[in-house]
Amino acid sequence: MNRFLVSRRDWQRRALALALTPWLGAGAQAQLNQGSAMGSGLRWQVDPFSLGVASGQPQSGSVVLWTRLHITEADAALQAQTIALVCEVFADEALRQPVRQWQVQTDASRAHSVHVVATGLQPGRPYWYRFVCGSAVSPVGRARTSPGVDDPVDRLRIALASCQHYEQGYFAAHREMARSDLDLVLFVGDYIYESSNAQYLLRKHIGGVPTLLDEYRQRHAQYKTDADLQACHAAHTWVMTWDDHEVDNDYANNQDRRLTDPQVFLRRRAAAYQAYFEHMPLRLGPDAANASQMRIYDRMVWGRLADLWTLDCRQYRDHQACPDPMRGGGRVVVGCEALANPSRSMLGMAQEQWLSDGLTRSTQRWKLVAQSTQVSSSGVITPMGRSTFTDGWDGYPQARARLLGTVAQARMDNVVMLGGDVHMNVAAQLRVQPNNERSPVVASEIVTTSVTSRGMSEKLLAQIRDSNPDIVHARADERGYTLLDVRPEGIHAEFKTTPNPARVDGVFKTQAQWAIRAGVAGLQKA
Ligand code: FE
Ligand code: CA
Repeated sequence: MNRFLVSRRDWQRRALALALTPWLGAGAQAQLNQGSAMGSGLRWQVDPFSLGVASGQPQSGSVVLWTRLHITEADAALQAQTIALVCEVFADEALRQPVRQWQVQTDASRAHSVHVVATGLQPGRPYWYRFVCGSAVSPVGRARTSPGVDDPVDRLRIALASCQHYEQGYFAAHREMARSDLDLVLFVGDYIYESSNAQYLLRKHIGGVPTLLDEYRQRHAQYKTDADLQACHAAHTWVMTWDDHEVDNDYANNQDRRLTDPQVFLRRRAAAYQAYFEHMPLRLGPDAANASQMRIYDRMVWGRLADLWTLDCRQYRDHQACPDPMRGGGRVVVGCEALANPSRSMLGMAQEQWLSDGLTRSTQRWKLVAQSTQVSSSGVITPMGRSTFTDGWDGYPQARARLLGTVAQARMDNVVMLGGDVHMNVAAQLRVQPNNERSPVVASEIVTTSVTSRGMSEKLLAQIRDSNPDIVHARADERGYTLLDVRPEGIHAEFKTTPNPARVDGVFKTQAQWAIRAGVAGLQKA
């Protein structure tokens, strides 16, 4: 096991890094000064690193490194202990060139999760990292820092993914992504599912629908035991946002479909957010002052090449319009007048303003906006009028028009919306007035199909295609992920898919390819 000699200055730098790490307060620093007795002497009966390692939220000089000690019955005596461990960062894959290390501690209050904000790194390069806790050594992960804000970068390779119902298939897409040459994995929501569908069971969730913290922890831990998912986290730095199933299907802000007392539902949301943070490489957890709130929306810069916003479409949104009087959540409606109300928001006014300010000020070549669902319209023309599914952006048309109006008014080039949630690959032209030829195309949209979650029927999808000329590609029959090759002169998008359901040994092919040329809004056949 590698132990580095540590200078006094290193200790001070480390203490500073720890002070910036949200989870590690005064106790952690006191522990630092005494060394880490509870870590170095520990003898584990069972490997506590069975949930793997992960990295995320890169900046030009830093990246978040994550693990969670999974303590089994054999080591039960350690459950109540504060446990110290070391996070080691190396410049090379062979782990011969140590860069820095961090002493950290964790305990049951955070499910023994560890979040190290590894600072003082160089921009735009890979690092390798691992955790050491007594006799146990974690798998090695590879992490990447983003390039400096003004660096002239010529490439950004992203794998876009979403919707990985554990029961409905195997994570073969993650195996493929793990093997791919990427800068980032961009995961846009439905990382876990709270619910089951008895019709589609290739494997089973442990336990029922989670509502309590320990239940959400168990669900996340089960997903994290998947070898392909672990491999994808270890291989790449992830940038993430969430959608509804990380908490509850179709939830909107403080409301669920059962119209549970909002105060009760917010306690459930707090449990879900806490467990989400404990299992992800994120800089910030739930707000100290209000555990039901957690800021996840963020902006990342990839040199001069790209700005990447990740949005939160759940926490701040207005409730779905025209609900069934007996229940909340989304539904298909026709002739819903409330949709025209301009005060309704998908992102909440603060996030909406933050995004439009950011877009307007951005000087990066590409403006990539990652969010959890589909921006383009997917309503269907019926004899009674056009139908609307109220949970998606179609249910917040004024907010969508404001967002795309900002793009149009600023004559902003190169805005690309990236999404998931709908369990199908979609390529679409975005106009301020959807499907209206007289309203110019102002941006492009790429939505990735699900990793495993089942898609809609071909019959319904055919109606959607017929009713929405802005959709230039839509297929719901295959599972997978989407490769985005971002270069100064253009973006190449490739839908990588395997038949439904995704099998352990699923083989992937290219379903379709689309191109976006710099300076020309909209998609073109690649
Ligand atoms: Fe989903
Ligand atoms: Ca969803």
